Amino acid sequence: MNYYNIQIVLQEVPHEISICFSVCGCTIRCHGCHSPHLWKENNGYLLTPRIYRETLDRYKGLATCVLFMGGEWHKENLIYFLNYALEQGYQTCLYSGEDKIDPQILKYLTWIKTGRWDAELGGLHSPNTNQRFVEVQSNTLLNHLFIKDHSS
Ligand code: SF4
Repeated sequence: MNYYNIQIVLQEVPHEISICFSVCGCTIRCHGCHSPHLWKENNGYLLTPRIYRETLDRYKGLATCVLFMGGEWHKENLIYFLNYALEQGYQTCLYSGEDKIDPQILKYLTWIKTGRWDAELGGLHSPNTNQRFVEVQSNTLLNHLFIKDHSS
């Protein structure tokens, strides 16, 4: 599994400080994709267990969640990485352009974002979006957390 970059992000998972791994090799090809650099499988750098562990160690006590932007196409690797994050006390999240995610991956996720990018419908901030941000265990839709002036 190659990653393009690792960033600390504040908006993608509400109320969490997330270590975000952007994974290369997305095959969905959304029209208007904001990250076409993620399409090529061999872009970026190999995400080795050592790099991954060192990154999670570095942000322990600072970040609260590990977020993967894609990577569901490397199921075994992704499950290994998610499981390690959970063992280290992190919450986990996957942003996917797919509508359905393998249940074996879901078992290791706190939150999941599904749905391809559609500029006419907008992203999670849009009330018309096709995308869904869900707390996995309770299957609760949490899109309202992304809309400004939400009341809860
Ligand atoms: S799922 Fe994300 S990275 Fe993949 S094509 Fe769509 S917008 Fe781009």
